[in-house]
Amino acid sequence: MGDTPNTRGVGSGRGAVRCAPLWGKRIAVGAVDGNRDGTPHPGPGTGGGSAQARCNATLALVTTEIQMAKSYDPRATEDRVYRFWESRGYFKPRMDAPGERFCIVMPPPNVTGELHIGHALTDTAEDILIRWHRMLGDPTLWVPGIDHAGIATQNVVEKELAKEGLTRHDLGREAFEQRVWTWVGRYRGIISNQHRRLGASADWSREVFTLDDGPQRAVRTTFKKMFDEGLIYRGERLINWCPRCQTALSDLEVEHEEQNSSLWHIRYPLVTGHDAEGRPTVGDEAMVVATTRPETFVGDVAVAVHPDDPRYRDRIGQTVLLPVIQREVPIVGDDAVEMEFGTGTLKVTPGHDPVDFEIGQRHGLPRINAMNLDATMNEQAGPYAGMDRYEARNVIVRDLEELGYLAKVEPHVLSVGLCSRCHTVVEPLMSWQWFVRMETLARPAIEAVRAGKVRFIPERFERIYLNWMENIRDWCISRQLWWGHRIPVWYSADEDGDRIVVTYRDPRLPSDAKPTVATYNELRAQGITHEQIIAHGTWSAVAATPIVAIETPERSPTGGGHLLQDTDVLDTWFSSGLWPFSTLGWPDDTPELRAWYPTSVMETGYDIIFLWVARMIMLGLYHLGEVPFRDVYLHGTVRNEHGQRMSKSLGTGVDPLQVVEQYGADALRFTLITASGPGNDLRLSNEKVEASRNFANKLWNAARFFLTLAGEAPVRMPEALPATGAPLEDRWIVSRVESLARSYDEQMRKFEMGEAARQVYDFLWGELADWYIEIAKVRARAGGDAPSPLPVLAYALDRALRMLHPAMPFVTEEIWQALARRVEGLDEEALIVAAFPRGESGYADAEAEREMALLIDVVRAIRNIRAEKRVEPARFIDATVVSERPRPAFEAGAAYIAQLARVRLQVVSSPDDAPKEQVAKAVLGDGVTAVVPLAGLFDIAAERARIEKQVADAAADVGRIEAKLGNAQFRAKAPAQVVATEEERLAAARQRLDALRGSLAELA
Ligand SMILES: [Zn+2]
Repeated sequence: MGDTPNTRGVGSGRGAVRCAPLWGKRIAVGAVDGNRDGTPHPGPGTGGGSAQARCNATLALVTTEIQMAKSYDPRATEDRVYRFWESRGYFKPRMDAPGERFCIVMPPPNVTGELHIGHALTDTAEDILIRWHRMLGDPTLWVPGIDHAGIATQNVVEKELAKEGLTRHDLGREAFEQRVWTWVGRYRGIISNQHRRLGASADWSREVFTLDDGPQRAVRTTFKKMFDEGLIYRGERLINWCPRCQTALSDLEVEHEEQNSSLWHIRYPLVTGHDAEGRPTVGDEAMVVATTRPETFVGDVAVAVHPDDPRYRDRIGQTVLLPVIQREVPIVGDDAVEMEFGTGTLKVTPGHDPVDFEIGQRHGLPRINAMNLDATMNEQAGPYAGMDRYEARNVIVRDLEELGYLAKVEPHVLSVGLCSRCHTVVEPLMSWQWFVRMETLARPAIEAVRAGKVRFIPERFERIYLNWMENIRDWCISRQLWWGHRIPVWYSADEDGDRIVVTYRDPRLPSDAKPTVATYNELRAQGITHEQIIAHGTWSAVAATPIVAIETPERSPTGGGHLLQDTDVLDTWFSSGLWPFSTLGWPDDTPELRAWYPTSVMETGYDIIFLWVARMIMLGLYHLGEVPFRDVYLHGTVRNEHGQRMSKSLGTGVDPLQVVEQYGADALRFTLITASGPGNDLRLSNEKVEASRNFANKLWNAARFFLTLAGEAPVRMPEALPATGAPLEDRWIVSRVESLARSYDEQMRKFEMGEAARQVYDFLWGELADWYIEIAKVRARAGGDAPSPLPVLAYALDRALRMLHPAMPFVTEEIWQALARRVEGLDEEALIVAAFPRGESGYADAEAEREMALLIDVVRAIRNIRAEKRVEPARFIDATVVSERPRPAFEAGAAYIAQLARVRLQVVSSPDDAPKEQVAKAVLGDGVTAVVPLAGLFDIAAERARIEKQVADAAADVGRIEAKLGNAQFRAKAPAQVVATEEERLAAARQRLDALRGSLAELA
C-alpha cells in the first residue's frame, strides 16, 4: 500500500463503497496496489464481477476461508487482519474526517530490549482511545516512537561486551557507539513488530527514534536557547553519583530502599585552648554527633546545633577536634538542625551530604571531598585513603572505638538511595555538571495546571504534580556516558589548551593501564595529535569558554580550528521532554506541528509523572507557549496474581508476547483493560486471560449461530427499527443497544475504558447471547408468521462488535467481515473505520426493557426453584404466573418462558386461581408471582423428612444460643465483642429456621 490515507468508509457509511476484504471468494495472492479504485461495489453477497476483482486485488493478504471455523483461532487470524488494516492505510489520519482532531504521541519504549507487560497496557489503553476516536469520525493520529535510553542501553551493551571480556574503553568511544547502533538496529524492528502483534494501530510511517536527525536538532536548539537565556548553567554541585555506572544521576533516577543499619554516636572533644606550637588542646567535654555514614567524618568541616537550643547555645563559636585526623572545626548555629532528633547536634560534611552542602554555603565553610569516583577514599581521608567506602567504615568505627571516641551504636533503619539502573548505593559527590534552572520553567507549568489547561486523570495526581513543581530543584542534565545526545558545547583548544585537562588512554597500552592526565597543550607537546586526543581522550574543561551551537562548528569564533566537544551526554529525559513536538517536526514550523499540537492525551504510567510528564509540560510551554496535551491519563502498574511487581530479574515477569501466542492479543488486551482503572495497579493472572479468551469464543459462537440460521439467504439490516407492533424481545434488544451506546460514551469521556469494555461484555454475554439468541432459537423453531429475528440480531451484533472493537480489535473485525458479507446494509469497508454508535438511534424503549426484565426474572425464578428441588433439567413441569394485569411479558413472552424455563405455563390474574398447596413461590414484585406446584416432582414424604431433620437441628441451635445469651454470668464476663458475635449467630440461626419452616409449609 502506498501513502494514500484511507479516504472512505468513516462516518456515515451510507452509500460508501465496500470491498469484501477479508473474505473474498476470489483469492488475491499477495497482490498490493496503492491505487484505490472508486468503482462502486455491486453489493455484498453478489460476489464476482470486475469491481469485486479489483477490490480483491488491493488486498495484501490471502484467505481461503469462506465459513467461520468451529472455534476462534487467534493465531490464524490476528496477523492477517493486522496486515489488512496496515496495507489499507487505516492507521494514517484522515484529514477530511468531520470530527475534532485527536492525537496521542506514544511514550517511546526503551530500545534496550523486548516490550514488557506494562507496554502491553500502554498499547491497549492508547489503542482503545485511538480506535474509538477514529470510529467517531475524528481525524486521528497515533505517533509511535522509540527511546535511545542512554544509561539503560549503554548498560545492556556493556554487559554484552563483558561476555566477550571487553569494556567500552577497549573499543573506544566511536567503536562503542557503533556497537550500540548495531543493537538499536536489531531491536527497533523487534519492538515495532511487537506493537503490531498487540494490535497497536499507530501510524508506522511516522515512527521516530529519539536520536533521529529531527529530535537531535530539537535537543540542540533547546540547549542553545536555554544556555543563551541563562537557563542552563555549569556548576560544581553535590550530585547523585553512581560509582558503578560512573555517571551523575538526577534525583528521580535514585530509588530509595529501607535497610537495617546503625546510628553511630561519635564524641568530638571540645577544644579548650592551644599549646605553644598552636596545636589544639582538649579536655573531657565533648559534642556527641550521630551519623549513619561514619566514613564521611573525614570530610567534616563543622558541627551544627540549633541556635535556640539551650543545651548548646553557648557553644556556638567554639571549636571541636576531629579524632584521628586531628582537624579543628567550628560549632555553628543553623535553623536546619532538628533539636529533637538524636543528640540535637549535626556533623557538617558539605562534600558528601546535600543538607550539609547548604549549611556549608550559609556559613562559608570549605567543602572537602574525601572520595574518588569509584567510591574509594582519597588522600583527604588520611590513613584511610585507598580503602573502599565500606571497608573504610569498618576500620574507622573500630579505630574510634579503640580510642574511646565511640559513644554508642544503635540499630537504625535507614533510607538508602540506590541507582535505579544497577542498584548500587548512590554516593552524593561534588562534581562539575550542567544544570537547568527550573524555577522559571516551573512557574507557567504550575499556572497551566491550576487553570485547568491540563487535566489529570485521576484527579488526585494534580496535587502530587503541584507539590513537586512547587518544590522543584535544578535539574542535573549531564551524564558521564557515551550513548546519547552529546552536549552541544565545544571548547577551543587553540585558545584554552592550558585549561582543558585530558585523560588520555594510549591505545598501544593495555586497557587497564593507568591513563595519562595532562593539559591539552602538554599532550600536544609530547607529540600526540589533535585527532589522537579526540579518539582516545576524555576531557574536562571547566575553566574553558564554552562554545554552544546547534550545527557542529568548524572553527571557534576567533578562528581556531581545534575544537573539542564536551564529553558528556544529556540525560535521556532531556530529549523525552521535547517528545510531543520533536515528533511533529519541531524546531521546524511543519504542517504536522500546526495540525496536531497541542496533542490530545498523554497516556503513561503514574510512576513517571515527574521524570516525564512535568518536563513535557514545562518544555512545551517554554517553546510553543501552549501545553503539549489537554489530558494526562495515568495508568497503574501491572502486578502478577500475587500482587508482586513484575520483574524479569525476580522471575515474576510475564512476557506479553507469550500470552498473545497462547491466548491471542484480544484476550490479553481485554484482560488488561478490564482489570485496570485510572491510576490503579492491577493484577494479571492466567485464569483472567483464559476467561477473556472464552469470551472471544462466546462471541464467535454467537456469530456462527447467526450465519447458520441465515443460511445462504441474504439478510437485510432493519431499516426502521421495531415500533410498538414489533416483538417484545426485538424492541428490548435494540433499546439495550441504545442504552449501552450512551453509557459507553459516558464512560469513555471519563477515561473509564475498563468499565466501558466490561459493559459491552455484559451486554454480549448476559443479554444478547444468553437471552436474545436463546429466544431467537425458540422463535426460529416456531416458524409460522413470526418475523425472522435475523435483521434485529444482525443489528445488535453489528453494534456490539463496533463497541467491542477498540478493546478486542482482531476477533471483532474478523467476525464483522463475515457478517458484512451476508448482511445488506453493512456498507463500510472495515470495522476499524466503521462509524461508532453514539446512542442516537431513537430506539430507547422503557416499556420493552421493563417487560423483558420481568420475563427474565420469571425464568430465573423458576430455574432457581428447579435447581433447589433438583428437578431433572430436561423435564417439563407445571408453572403458574400470577399477574394482576395483562402484560406483554406474559402474552407475547409466554411461549419463551415456557421454553426457556421448561414449563407448561399458565398465566392467571388472581392469586386465587393459582395452586396453593405444596407449591414453591417466588414473589417478583409489581404484582407478579411465579408458582411451581411440587406434587409429583419428587418424593414429597422423603423431602419432608429431610427438611424436618434440618428444622430440628436449626431449632436446637437456636435453643443453645438463646440459653447462652440468657445466662447472666456469661453476659457479665464475656467481652462485648463475643456477646455481639453470639447475638449475630442467633439472628442467623433464627432466619435459617424460619426459611426451613417456610419450605416445610410449601410441602403441606
Ligand atoms: Zn548505576
